[in-house]
Amino acid sequence: MSDSHTVYDIPHFIDGHRSTGENPRWAEVYNPAEGTVAGRVALASQVEAEAAILAAHQAFRQWSETPILTRARLMFRFRELLDQHRTELARIVTREHGKVLSDAAGSIQRGFENVEYACGIAELLKGDYSPQVATGVDSYSMRLPLGVCAGITPFNFPVMVPLWMFPLAIACGNTFVLKPSEKDPSAALFLAELLHEAGAPPGVLNVLQGDRVAVDTLLTDPRVAAVSFVGSTPVAEHVYHTGTRHGKRVQALGGAKNHLVVLADADLDQAADALVNAAYGSAGERCMAISVGVVVDAIAEELVAKLKTRIGQLKIAAGTVAHADMGPLITREHQAKVMAYIDVGAREGAQLVIDGRGLKVAGATTGFFVGPTLFDHASPTMRIYREEIFGPVLTLIRVADLDAAITLVNAHEYGNGCAVFTREGGAAREFCRRAEIGMIGINVPIPVPMAFHSFGGWKRSLFGDTAIYGPEGVHFYTRLKTVTARWPLDTRPGVNLNFPS
Ligand code: NAD
Repeated sequence: MSDSHTVYDIPHFIDGHRSTGENPRWAEVYNPAEGTVAGRVALASQVEAEAAILAAHQAFRQWSETPILTRARLMFRFRELLDQHRTELARIVTREHGKVLSDAAGSIQRGFENVEYACGIAELLKGDYSPQVATGVDSYSMRLPLGVCAGITPFNFPVMVPLWMFPLAIACGNTFVLKPSEKDPSAALFLAELLHEAGAPPGVLNVLQGDRVAVDTLLTDPRVAAVSFVGSTPVAEHVYHTGTRHGKRVQALGGAKNHLVVLADADLDQAADALVNAAYGSAGERCMAISVGVVVDAIAEELVAKLKTRIGQLKIAAGTVAHADMGPLITREHQAKVMAYIDVGAREGAQLVIDGRGLKVAGATTGFFVGPTLFDHASPTMRIYREEIFGPVLTLIRVADLDAAITLVNAHEYGNGCAVFTREGGAAREFCRRAEIGMIGINVPIPVPMAFHSFGGWKRSLFGDTAIYGPEGVHFYTRLKTVTARWPLDTRPGVNLNFPS
């Protein structure tokens, strides 16, 4: 796909082929830095959704019986192709999402690591064997694929989040239907074609472009065994309830409001760098972005001064501009929503230290930009504190001490990630122990677990029992079978109605 101004079409990828279906509905896909239409994506009807499910269903039997090393080798070849196409993929992400190229490349690297993890599937799926559990009896257990798995992904990581899902699911022997965000759908198509080029048989990975119609078909069709969802909390809840009601295994990751706590003994330069990086990177459109700084009174003034200096030096521009720090937001509607939150915060009485409304980016005046914004002296009852804004808005709350910081973190409805900055091991340990949060950083602002751990929040940031990717991903995409076997057949236990012991 070129970066030219020709509006391009983005089709589905079903059973090894691109298709748009008959009389498709179309949605516009923007270049957010320019504010112009870049492409249009086909939105699936129930018919196309069922065609994708059918393709995956028909491919399942043969794929699930494909030797494990063959499945692993597909992942090795996919890894090589991904590596060769990193730059092209980053350009696609930047064009439709808007994040700066270096950030797009970083997110691709974090997705890439999940493919590397899936390359080890032979080791990951090794079963357990207990010989001689009784005389002449052995017992062994194994984890087997589920069938058709579906993945529904958000706009903010159009490569990384799909790579959290389908490589591991497919390496486990499942087939997959990926429903990417309709706001930046080209990257998913590119990934599917790479996997196909790597040797995936038709139907093993299908990309279904679309909106709620596609999602609701995936959630209710009896041929879909499991659904992984990443997106906002209201939709995560809908996906979880609808999917489980239809008998599916569901993991649904939702929104966040991540706190970074700065204690009095912290290195304040490090803490200020971390807050700025984690609040404004990707224009705040990360589920692990820090949107709340919890600052101990004693060092608050000094920290705010450091933040102001750093924020003033940020370069806001189109993601393709060299050395840009921050790009635009995803859509004009989202830009308006974030600016409305800044209005709300000012009305609620938080101190607006830096106002990102009205930012004009030279050469990109029609882009969906909002400048980095800083609120101080917010309180826990304010909407800018309670609600996920998902933009470049950092809100500071001042507290007396560690205890008050933990109480604040734990009272919030979200529990995705949080961080503490301190030099004192005892305080960090206390924070980790007591914080009711799924992923915690100690002097690390965005503690996204590596591919060989697993990613998952608590409370209203995750619906379901298992986190995503890593060991919990293997668990999610497989089910347990345990065999108890007696050989040889010539010893007869005789009739005995007691419980086997
Ligand atoms: P979203 O919930 O609007 O959309 C996510 C997916 O759901 C998309 O594929 C979309 O087409 C589909 N969808 C949207 N509305 C739907 C509806 N009513 N019914 C059925 N399907 C629907 O989320 P988004 O705006 O694309 O992404 C941003 C959100 O995702 C933020 O809340 C962010 O915190 C969250 N997120 C969470 C994580 C995590 O790991 N917890 C990671 C990334 C993003």
